Amino acid sequence: MDFSYPPRAEDFRTEVRQFLAEHVTPAVLEEQHSGTVHSWELHQKMAAKGWLNGAVPEELGGGGRDALEMSVLIEELQLFRAPIDAMGVVIALASIILELGNDFLKDEVVPKLLRGESLGSFGYSEPESGSDVAAAQTKAVRDGDEWVINGTKMWTTMAHEADYVILLTRTNADVPKHKGLTFFIVPFDTPGIEIQPVWTMGYERSNATFYDDVRLDDKWRLGDVDGGWAVMKTALKFERGIAGGQFFSAPLIEDTIAHARRHRRPDGSLLIDDPVVRERLVRAMIDLEVCRVFAQRVAYGAAVGAPFGVEGSMTKLFASETFKKHSNWFIDILGVEGLLRHGEPDAPMGGFIEESFRHAPVTTIYGGTSEINRNMVAEGHLGLPRAR
Ligand SMILES: Cc1cc2nc3c(=O)[nH]c(=O)nc-3n(C[C@H](O)[C@H](O)[C@H](O)COP(=O)(O)OP(=O)(O)OC[C@H]3O[C@@H](n4cnc5c(N)ncnc54)[C@H](O)[C@@H]3O)c2cc1C
Repeated sequence: MDFSYPPRAEDFRTEVRQFLAEHVTPAVLEEQHSGTVHSWELHQKMAAKGWLNGAVPEELGGGGRDALEMSVLIEELQLFRAPIDAMGVVIALASIILELGNDFLKDEVVPKLLRGESLGSFGYSEPESGSDVAAAQTKAVRDGDEWVINGTKMWTTMAHEADYVILLTRTNADVPKHKGLTFFIVPFDTPGIEIQPVWTMGYERSNATFYDDVRLDDKWRLGDVDGGWAVMKTALKFERGIAGGQFFSAPLIEDTIAHARRHRRPDGSLLIDDPVVRERLVRAMIDLEVCRVFAQRVAYGAAVGAPFGVEGSMTKLFASETFKKHSNWFIDILGVEGLLRHGEPDAPMGGFIEESFRHAPVTTIYGGTSEINRNMVAEGHLGLPRAR
């Protein structure tokens, strides 16, 4: 069994590392403490390298870097802690439009996304529906060549920076819920849209978005009327293909080891000499290896064109739950000083562990909660009966 990446992917890794060492500057890292995990400067430089276009499959007209190269890119970005919340959405949105969109959407939206000029956002969740995404109630009603949209979306992350939202709406309330959905690409400068910030207990900003008699020409529709569930499946395929988070723990472990080697307790002993500290670090490193193998498995499946199964759910579940566990362990290791926040004098590791401690639980919710992913693994991998 050979777990190494092909030379092409390793050459790409070297190129990515050199680029990130130069461009993920302290100023870029600092930007994400504003709550917006995105840097326009870095994003546009990656677009200029052709990496956004490269992530779009060749058969859809993109640059067609393969899944192993994409996996390497995601791994390195996470090791460098690069602020890239917007990147995955841009790649997924461009790919969805190229696969299912009309010529107008392909010409109007995709080039701007892939050139790094525009960002997108996902408008699926609502105040009353998140996991059960098909229960969306935001209403779109046809009026001649136009649609009139009314409703509220929750957690429209990046809406305050983005130009577009891929919006899930209900166009038919008289059929089973999966059958009455329609998607639109909505430009945020359309009259009638309001964006309000929602802050998480972690450090990031998301948004509530309100749609009040928003009028949209039919050319902005994505896919068939009442055919939204098929679009959703395509969207999830692309979202899962580039899902990140597998290596969130990596810089956390590295920094904690460095800290434990330097930091002395009042009795003069080094933290790293404490067997409990060592055990936790080693267990975390083993978890990280498991994450790496999960990530490789997903990337390999995508590279050979295997249909997406439950591997994405397994990876997301394990990676986010271990990230949460590691943040808990490491904040304990730091003692009371670990509670000092980024920007406060004497905060160990610049407050990184404290920030991760608040951020990690959020990663077990977005992109599918741990409970939903456990259901998927139970049904799809263990063959247990469908959860009700
Ligand atoms: C920071 C952040 C960013 C996000 N960004 C976006 C975004 O950009 N776009 C977007 O559309 N959404 C986004 N989301 C929404 C996210 O996808 C939802 O929060 C998530 O799907 C859960 O939905 P919910 O919050 O409505 O909780 P609910 O679905 O109401 O779930 C509540 C609890 O019940 C559990 N539960 C629900 N159903 C089941 C079941 N069948 N079996 C077992 N347990 C179940 C859940 O796991 C959870 O613990 C974001 C969320 C967060 C926190």
